Amino acid sequence: MIEPGATIGILGGGQLGRMTGQAARALGYGFVVYEPQENCPAGHVADMEINADYADESALQLLADAADVVTYEFENVPSEATHYLGRHRKLHPRPEILHTCQNREREKTFLRDSGIPCAPFAIVDSEEDLAAALEKIGTPCVLKTAAFGYDGKGQLKIDDDSPNVSEIWKQFGKHRAVLEGWMDFEMEISVMVAANEQGEIATFPIAENIHTNHILDYSIVPARISKDLSERAEELAKEVARKLGLVGLLGVELFVLKDGALAVNELAPRPHNSGHYTIDACVTSQFEQFVRAVCGLPLGSTELLRPVVMVNILGDAWQGRTPDWSSLLRHPQAKLHLYGKKQARVGRKMGHFCVLADSVDEAFALARELKSSL
Ligand code: AMP
Repeated sequence: MIEPGATIGILGGGQLGRMTGQAARALGYGFVVYEPQENCPAGHVADMEINADYADESALQLLADAADVVTYEFENVPSEATHYLGRHRKLHPRPEILHTCQNREREKTFLRDSGIPCAPFAIVDSEEDLAAALEKIGTPCVLKTAAFGYDGKGQLKIDDDSPNVSEIWKQFGKHRAVLEGWMDFEMEISVMVAANEQGEIATFPIAENIHTNHILDYSIVPARISKDLSERAEELAKEVARKLGLVGLLGVELFVLKDGALAVNELAPRPHNSGHYTIDACVTSQFEQFVRAVCGLPLGSTELLRPVVMVNILGDAWQGRTPDWSSLLRHPQAKLHLYGKKQARVGRKMGHFCVLADSVDEAFALARELKSSL
């Protein structure tokens, strides 16, 4: 067990690192951030910020020396950096998990080989592969870059019954890719699951997620699904965590299909945007749970205290002026979180707010109203 008073090191300095740092501090831990870009959101709440390239071994060694345990909050950290740190310091989740989850080809292959339900897929590395994959998977389908994709980036939906293969391959940029069958889903949900070295495993209440332009817009909790479905989703998330050998926190994104079946869309071995609601609405937040899991503390209660809706605040809300926070700040059921980012850009996650109410319907109606007030 890494006792409170010790120091947690984290690779990646975005808002996920920032909120992890806040939770670490609340439990009396020190916090060190490693992030290539200076003045990062997590650096604002850290004891020390190391700004260096992820390939810089002497800087990685500084992190290993400063921390008692190391983790990561960003999926696109080169896995070599985690392998290096894993050799020099305790590191969770193990580097192999990051390596699997940061690449769609490896992730999908892991899911399929583990017998976890997911969309049918084929690996594509040439125009000929694409033609064969389209034949096998059929349309509609979606072509996704194998590596470094997030929030719908590097994705191309193919609807056409007789698509122009060579045009699509050119338009896509000829990157190695995964062609996935289109899932005609009823709803998108996600489950946060945490596990520690002692073998404890715990899930948070299921979030129902609504995306706009491929970016998470609202998370509604509890998701408006049956008890049976929510239990199956929690079990599935635990199964994924066990098969990965997880120590840490994992976000499992799922499609709920029209017939009630579940299919895993994506895995994120770190805190997840759809788990932000836990800060204001659960006994233990996902960030505190993450800290507990990587430090080997007992896992905290994941009980939901009140129905909640989380709304992302993107840079789009700035439009040449700072949004007017007054209605959010005045509202007794709203909680505002800002990440301290200096530059607002379209699509950039700047903050979020949560609305707590007696029912999700009330919370959702109020959340939409407050969002439009920005
Ligand atoms: P991803 O980056 O893979 O999470 O995809 C972003 C969003 O695109 C998802 O949240 C879904 O709304 C949609 N999407 C991705 N893959 C599929 C699929 N195979 N079928 C239907 N919708 C998808």
